[in-house]
Amino acid sequence: MPSDLDLNEVNHDDLVGGSSLWGRNGKRPTCYPLKQSFKTDIAIIGGGITGALVAEHLTARGFFVVVIDREQPGFGSTAASTAMLQWEIDRTLGELEILYGFERAAAIYRRSAASVAGLAKLVGAHGIVCGFRPRNTLYLANNHEGARELLDEWQLRRRAGLPGHYLEHPDLFTQYEFDRDAAILSPGSAEADPLLLTGALLQISISRGARLINASVTALNSEGRHVTAVTDGPYVIEARHVVLATGYSMPGLDMPKLHRTSSSWALATVPQKPDDLWRDGTLLWEDSHPYLYLRTTDDNRIIAGGEDDDTIDPGERDRKLPAKTMAIREKLKRLWPKADTRVEHAWCGTFGETADGLPLIGPVPGMAGVYAAYGYGGNGITFSYLAAQMIGATLAGTQREWFEDFALDRDAPAMRSFVANSMRAGEELR
Ligand SMILES: Cc1cc2nc3c(=O)[nH]c(=O)nc-3n(C[C@H](O)[C@H](O)[C@H](O)COP(=O)(O)OP(=O)(O)OC[C@H]3O[C@@H](n4cnc5c(N)ncnc54)[C@H](O)[C@@H]3O)c2cc1C
Repeated sequence: MPSDLDLNEVNHDDLVGGSSLWGRNGKRPTCYPLKQSFKTDIAIIGGGITGALVAEHLTARGFFVVVIDREQPGFGSTAASTAMLQWEIDRTLGELEILYGFERAAAIYRRSAASVAGLAKLVGAHGIVCGFRPRNTLYLANNHEGARELLDEWQLRRRAGLPGHYLEHPDLFTQYEFDRDAAILSPGSAEADPLLLTGALLQISISRGARLINASVTALNSEGRHVTAVTDGPYVIEARHVVLATGYSMPGLDMPKLHRTSSSWALATVPQKPDDLWRDGTLLWEDSHPYLYLRTTDDNRIIAGGEDDDTIDPGERDRKLPAKTMAIREKLKRLWPKADTRVEHAWCGTFGETADGLPLIGPVPGMAGVYAAYGYGGNGITFSYLAAQMIGATLAGTQREWFEDFALDRDAPAMRSFVANSMRAGEELR
């Protein structure tokens, strides 16, 4: 039965403000204007990190792919990302266990870890130059109670076969100089320049025959055997399958219970003296609300982000940039007094979250041939990699039962009631 989906007109300026530091001098893949209607195997809408990962994977599987973006690919949310490529999910394993039971929660965490490993392998196999570096993470307790919760979380992770150590204050302070009650130290994460990574993946796809088209898709008509992407010009693209990789510019899919947008802010300092940085460039994130996350860069800058709140108006988000930058700077100084906190880049972006911290990946209900690849959350890029693998397998007819864990119509808690319950239980939402 034919069905339709309207796409909205959110543009990059609505999604990001300020100016991030990523590979603006990197080579940008050539984007061609749409000059005629045509047919293709797969049309991917969106050329950010998600669209780029999906395009790379599908072209590796031999599909003929077209990537459509109405603006410069990569300059949406991807350019705002702090690109901490973590397998630790916004919801702790303990929280996921409450929602889905231990076995399912543990399997989800292991898949997340496998996704970061897969991404590292992909970058290595193609020799992609994008500042990709394997990193440990430190998940820092904010207080005494937080330390107890972290211990429970670590014990649960151990039961799930996940790697990591629990560090109490003396060890944490001796090894890392962080004056916190406790932390979980975990291997297996990474960092990168998200814009360089996106550009390189698109380039690899193009070298395998993919086309990158500049057009705005305004609607999709699914007619069973094919999907028609209607554009804002006179032309249409007919595809056997369409992948939605439109980031936080999400069409009005029927699942408001699961998804909401908020805003996050970030800064990059001036380069630090190498000896003034913490050990091993470890990725840091805090068990607090609003939370703080930190990483370093190739040229020894500190990137610090957080201060998330539920601002959704882009103008208001951008107006808050100076105050939020100041707040992040203060927190950075408290956590790492050696930091030279002079700021060279400050930016902000829309941030999408789901109630269970998991992405929205898979068939779009009621739209035959249309698939969603929505990473979302602090693990957006990790989940984009997972989305590429899952959609590739689905199109090749080898989907697995566990794909349901990420389905758009999964039986998950409603955002509103989940937030309310969490607050009642005295938890802080990260
Ligand atoms: C401040 C901040 C910090 C973050 N930090 C991290 C982090 O440390 N680690 C992490 O993993 N994730 C992080 N994220 C999340 C991560 O950035 C996102 O999950 C990721 O960038 C989403 O990429 P995307 O390709 O899906 O979206 P985008 O990069 O926004 O790309 C979507 C593209 O689709 C195009 N498009 C949309 N609609 C249409 C249409 N109708 N027709 C044609 N083109 C269309 C847009 O022009 C855009 O270029 C962070 C996000 C923010 C804002």
